[in-house]
Amino acid sequence: MGPFTTPHGTVIFRLTPARCNIWVVTRNSRTIIIDTGISFDRARIEHALERKALVPEAVILTHTHFDHAGNAAWLAHEYGAEVVVQEAERGYLAAGDTPIPEGTHAVTRGLASLGKKVTTMFRYDPCHADHVFKERFDLNRFGINGYIFHTPGHSPGGSTVVIDDVMAVAGDSIIGTMPGKPFPPFADDVDLLLKSWGRIIETGCESFLPGHGKPVSREELSVEFSKKFNS
Ligand SMILES: [Zn+2]
Repeated sequence: MGPFTTPHGTVIFRLTPARCNIWVVTRNSRTIIIDTGISFDRARIEHALERKALVPEAVILTHTHFDHAGNAAWLAHEYGAEVVVQEAERGYLAAGDTPIPEGTHAVTRGLASLGKKVTTMFRYDPCHADHVFKERFDLNRFGINGYIFHTPGHSPGGSTVVIDDVMAVAGDSIIGTMPGKPFPPFADDVDLLLKSWGRIIETGCESFLPGHGKPVSREELSVEFSKKFNS
């Protein structure tokens, strides 16, 4: 998906199909990667980076569920990328083991309880975080005009990346697999996630790139927000 180019000349695109959306953000030959897929995706990630001659300076994690953090350690080791994660999930990342969230409706609640019984399936390579933040972390040090800020609810350290104040990469705080239904099927804390949605909308961004599926528009997000908020 993409490339999307912001009015400031930052380019954002999906690296390669993988278990989660892996977003590349690049400007003036400097590159960061947001989220990393599972270890099974590793060969195609390597191939895509080589083909596009990209060397990521940083790996930014929207959160540490196995399908997002699975190649963080490898990317750090292979490319010298610095890893950024919100403080609440530093320990999970260091252990390669992040609890899976609750379902937000009946079917996914069942799936989540099933998943909890086979937790070893969801382990991943442990990874040391180079940068940990509480509220917000500036990405200008990597040549990118943007920041990542704490938007918990899907998971304790869930965070959203804002690029040039126009595009947001929201991890699993927003989902793009079902048109018109951007609220994620899994979340640790639904009320907290809704609060975070309010703050994500306040960024003023026009387009929201999810951890799974297609981009979500500001209008789509706002409509769902008022529906959920008033229910
Ligand atoms: Zn997740």
